[in-house]
Amino acid sequence: MTPDSKPHADFRDLLEALCHVWGPSGHEDRVRALLLELIAPHVDETRVDALGNLIAVRHAAAGGAKGTGVEAPRIMVAAHMDEIGVVVTHVDQDGFLRFGPVGGILTGNLIGTRVTFEDGTVGVIGAEKRADQAKAPTLDELFIDVGADDAAAVTQRVGDMAAFHHRLDWSGGRPIAPNHDDRIGCVMLVAALRRFKPGPNTLVAVFSTQEEVGTRGAETAAYGVAPQLAIALDITGAGDTPKAPPLALKLGAGAAVKVKDGGMIASPALRRLMEERAQAAGIPYQLEVLTGGTTDARAMQTSRAGVPAGAISVPTRYGHSPSQVIDLADVQAGVDLLLALLEGDVSGLLGSGLTGSGMTGAG
Ligand SMILES: [Zn+2]
Repeated sequence: MTPDSKPHADFRDLLEALCHVWGPSGHEDRVRALLLELIAPHVDETRVDALGNLIAVRHAAAGGAKGTGVEAPRIMVAAHMDEIGVVVTHVDQDGFLRFGPVGGILTGNLIGTRVTFEDGTVGVIGAEKRADQAKAPTLDELFIDVGADDAAAVTQRVGDMAAFHHRLDWSGGRPIAPNHDDRIGCVMLVAALRRFKPGPNTLVAVFSTQEEVGTRGAETAAYGVAPQLAIALDITGAGDTPKAPPLALKLGAGAAVKVKDGGMIASPALRRLMEERAQAAGIPYQLEVLTGGTTDARAMQTSRAGVPAGAISVPTRYGHSPSQVIDLADVQAGVDLLLALLEGDVSGLLGSGLTGSGMTGAG
């Protein structure tokens, strides 16, 4: 195989670009700037709302749904721009930083992890000596070493955030990164916008903020968009490593169609339609039941008067760790499935798309 005939070359290029951009929750500006550049040639309009969500619209074909002049269904597809990280809570006299979590970091295995601050400063996470060294340290026993000899030499302040040190590696053709969650969702949404052909539905692509601290960006974005159908693109778990918890998800076995997670039950009608479209087009898929965690789909589902919602997920090993592993075949299947949905008839399962002003669509 020659280098330029690599499978999934588009995804590789997009990942290389997006995984190296710094953006813990609430600090998505750099990610948003890059995404705006990437999608500008492929969308009809863009706006940024008060929480920093990037909202891009790709209109349906002229004439509305099925050429009837009736307003086309609005489908909101969300992928979050933010990544998990840490926030400085205290700087001690010797120049060590104490920190709190930004999103669901796994404090038990952070010793030796490198983190990067907004100004590029790299720190390493260390731990105090513990009575029982075999026990994992708690958050209170961890600190960040930024190479400073005392507090005066520390340039970080309380409130500064850091993300896991950005590095994208490839192992057996699979990408490893600290922020596949959810830059891979952003990759999928960009890829879908590039391929989207105007048909019966209007696509509202939302690159959301603050998902990792409670799906906050998607909440306001969904209110503003008032979609009639909503889909999140995000990572999920995998149960295919030695003695993994029983989880029927495997890397490389296809796009994961969400049935349920810790925060929502996906619309059964939407889930069935996803399965039908996948089967009809020969797209590999697997069903996802995750006992914990959730995605932007939860926020979209409970927006306004309620929105039928679901998710297409990418099975991921070592989620929320500095070395998340995915398989690009699942990413490909996810984009194919998303487009099969967006470009087909979804009129059988639409919510009302109620707006604040009453019973009409948002126009
Ligand atoms: Zn996520």
